[in-house]
Amino acid sequence: MTLQDKVNEVAREDLSPYCLNQCSTTCCDLSHIILITSKISLHLILGENADLSKYKIENGMYCYQEGICPQYDEKFHKCKIYLHPDRPKACEIFPFLISNKGGDDDWVAVNHKCEYMLQPQRILSLSDKLDVDVWLLE
Ligand code: SF4
Ligand code: SF4
Repeated sequence: MTLQDKVNEVAREDLSPYCLNQCSTTCCDLSHIILITSKISLHLILGENADLSKYKIENGMYCYQEGICPQYDEKFHKCKIYLHPDRPKACEIFPFLISNKGGDDDWVAVNHKCEYMLQPQRILSLSDKLDVDVWLLE
């Protein structure tokens, strides 16, 4: 199992329920997101019939930066497609940044904007479960 797999399995076990039920901030609660994503994910966000041509960048990727994501539920501060398998990868991997070089060089950094991870004991617990260094990324 790769470190990425372990993060997906172990870290999200506790984080996802918090994102869905408790988080009061939500990572994408911003007026200007820049979302680099795939065609499938952008169709999921903008609707099946959306014209994606103006968002096309390169390598089959698309860039959306028109304010708040349409899938962000402003009333409940939640992502409406959080559990969908085609949610953009960038959203899926937040708040983790993973270095997976192997052995002692592996580490996981956590974005400091993540409400769940702001408690030091959660960082320590994650480090224990993953058996790698985990720190807050300022
Ligand atoms: S898809 Fe969900 S997590 Fe991603 S930017 Fe939109 S609302 Fe946020
Ligand atoms: S800020 Fe952290 S806890 Fe809140 S929705 Fe984003 S990833 Fe989940």
